[in-house]
Amino acid sequence: MTLPIDPAANLATLIRCPSVTPAEGGALSALQAMLAPMGFGVERPIFSEAGTLDVENLYARLSGNGPHLMFAGHTDVVPVGDEADWTHPPFAAEIANGEMFGRGAVDMKGGIACFVAALARHIEQHGAPKGSVSLLITGDEEGPSINGSGKLLEWAAAKGENWDAAVVGEPTNPNALGDMIKIGRRGSISGTITVHGRQGHAAYPHLADNPVRALVTLCDALLDPAFDEGTTDFQATNLEITTVDVGNRATNVIPARATASFNIRFNDTWTAETLQAEVHNRLDRAAEDLRLRPHAQEPASFDLIWTERPSHVFLTRDEKLIAALSGSIEAVTGAKPALSTSGGTSDARFIKDYCPVVEFGLVGKTMHMVDERVALSDLEGLTKIYERFLADWFA
Ligand SMILES: [Zn+2]
Repeated sequence: MTLPIDPAANLATLIRCPSVTPAEGGALSALQAMLAPMGFGVERPIFSEAGTLDVENLYARLSGNGPHLMFAGHTDVVPVGDEADWTHPPFAAEIANGEMFGRGAVDMKGGIACFVAALARHIEQHGAPKGSVSLLITGDEEGPSINGSGKLLEWAAAKGENWDAAVVGEPTNPNALGDMIKIGRRGSISGTITVHGRQGHAAYPHLADNPVRALVTLCDALLDPAFDEGTTDFQATNLEITTVDVGNRATNVIPARATASFNIRFNDTWTAETLQAEVHNRLDRAAEDLRLRPHAQEPASFDLIWTERPSHVFLTRDEKLIAALSGSIEAVTGAKPALSTSGGTSDARFIKDYCPVVEFGLVGKTMHMVDERVALSDLEGLTKIYERFLADWFA
């Protein structure tokens, strides 16, 4: 029996499945076909929720005596944009100059292809791992992430599954394989402020109440002072105003309403709840500031809506897990990886509620871009790193 020991062959198979979220595209079937010969039991639950499209997911488990390691990732990919812009077709897995081209090459079919190859090599050389291995693979990471990892974890935990540690195979390296492990992630909250004013003639501002004036003061209060200066493990919390909307085309009319939206990426100084309270405090205080509203007697009237479920901040402190991964990277690449909490959120935000989780995969430079591609040498390198990690972690 031939096991899937070649990461490039595994990746080519996966790239050729056009699994743009929420389409399965054959990718989970292809993965199942790789895992079954290694003895994995594979289940593919489909999750639904009103207002979203159904998404198929995969949970595979190889049971053994000992600790339980989870590898997590996604087979869905972002859209390709205009196919004509690609040097090589996005679902063809063509190789040129030592690189394989295709959507998902690094984000993150490549990571899955390498982990599967590492497992196959481990089994060929040492037999089944001295413990359990499971793959938690969603088809809903690049989409709304509602019918994906969160539900898959709940579903598996309800069946009695529990895990000792998890590795997410997202592309964590900014420039070269081995640059960076993610050991935590910042949290994220988003909100929209609407200021209610009174419409009127631009030449008679005292008869109106221009909501833009108050909105400027409210936005200023969110931007200054800084929320914090960062912590040992995290960069400073940052707020970005992402849009300001009035939609007024007339130059002689004071509008009735003005809105602004913002997103905050926050560190472990805060929880989503304490930060939301801080935002409310700042806005309430700023609403009473009448410097820009000389004709007003009353605090500005506004409301604030939190526009998405908060992503919570987390930091992993499992020394054994971090040391095994970091040591494997150093052994293969010759350099120590940085332990980072930078960047956006990932599905690790769901996993952290079940077990310690770290993230390490390929080089992210071309993710979500036209001509997404991966060096074949990186595929081999990451496979060697995962292989060594499996040997160390189960030792
Ligand atoms: Zn990804």
